Amino acid sequence: MIRRVTPARVVHAVGRRLGLARNELKVRRQPLHSYAPRSALTGPETAVGRARVPAVDVHNHLGLWLNQGHAWMAPDVGALLASMDELGVATIVNLDGRWDAELEANLDRYDRTHPGRFLTFCHLDWSLLTDRRFPELLPAVLHRAKAAGAGGIKVWKDLGLDVRDHDGLLVQPDDPRLYDVWETAADLDLPVLMHTADPVAFWQPVDRTNERFEELTRHPDWHHGSRDVPGHDELVTAFERVVAAHPRTTFIGAHVASSAEDLDRASRMLDRLPNLTVDLSAREAELGRQPRRAAAFLARHADRVLWGTDSFPFRPEQYRTWFRLLESDDEYFPYGADPPQQGRWSVYGMGLDGALLQAVYADNARRVVPGLRV
Ligand SMILES: [Zn+2]
Repeated sequence: MIRRVTPARVVHAVGRRLGLARNELKVRRQPLHSYAPRSALTGPETAVGRARVPAVDVHNHLGLWLNQGHAWMAPDVGALLASMDELGVATIVNLDGRWDAELEANLDRYDRTHPGRFLTFCHLDWSLLTDRRFPELLPAVLHRAKAAGAGGIKVWKDLGLDVRDHDGLLVQPDDPRLYDVWETAADLDLPVLMHTADPVAFWQPVDRTNERFEELTRHPDWHHGSRDVPGHDELVTAFERVVAAHPRTTFIGAHVASSAEDLDRASRMLDRLPNLTVDLSAREAELGRQPRRAAAFLARHADRVLWGTDSFPFRPEQYRTWFRLLESDDEYFPYGADPPQQGRWSVYGMGLDGALLQAVYADNARRVVPGLRV
């Protein structure tokens, strides 16, 4: 008799010889990416439905350009406002203003129709870098944006990693040819929210030791270590140099100035550079896995840290995760989607006190961003 030999039969035959049960084999053959353990811990689960005080989210995206198909990130502004009211979010800073016609469209849809609830930041039009006159052309973009009503300037990580000049060379945040851009920002009273670099792991080898291995296998294009670009430290140092070179200009370092893995470094930056503040956006996983250190950092720089989410398209559950993280004493809970999208760990509440929450949720943003004071 001829028996068909299937791979499964071979595995089971080998397994039997090794003395393994059928169930045990099935378990052993699960891929690691399907691993989704449920914590057996029992303990308080504090539902924090709204921010303790009316909050300002200084970092979110409501515009067109980041969305596939160029559709509005928040398709229904009425529903968005209702959700903000429910969460206790007074104002969202929309970082998607871009420039000229797109800026006008954002201002019409958000700031002008719902004053006080939204503040739109503009961008610099980097396509002008291919023109040798860009050192004069870029400040003109800012003058037009200010006249239209932009509340600040968002600079994305493409400065340093992707944006090139007329000779095809990468332009760094501290490029001296951008001197007038940052001085113009100060003249126009426009704060500069700058996202430089990325998580440290995005430069490390994508192997079994990389703490964001799964994320980088999902998004291989996010890995900078295999590209001919400056390193993490080089970029963050360039950011520090530009902040130091323009003491009149207000800078907000997005994502804890890309230094959430090294809060001592972020702390040194804040100590040294009085015109710098940082936002917390998209770093709940980093802050929440070191809650004592993060709480000490926030207390030490109580007037220099701004809350932001980077939660887009607008996700109320991510806001509630933020509130739980900052306000509760809960231990070991998910920082976002399941399975975790950044690294395979859980987070711990910081239990911040009322005065610190008031500063981080609202007061610091209103002090640093003039458009939020009206
Ligand atoms: Zn962002």
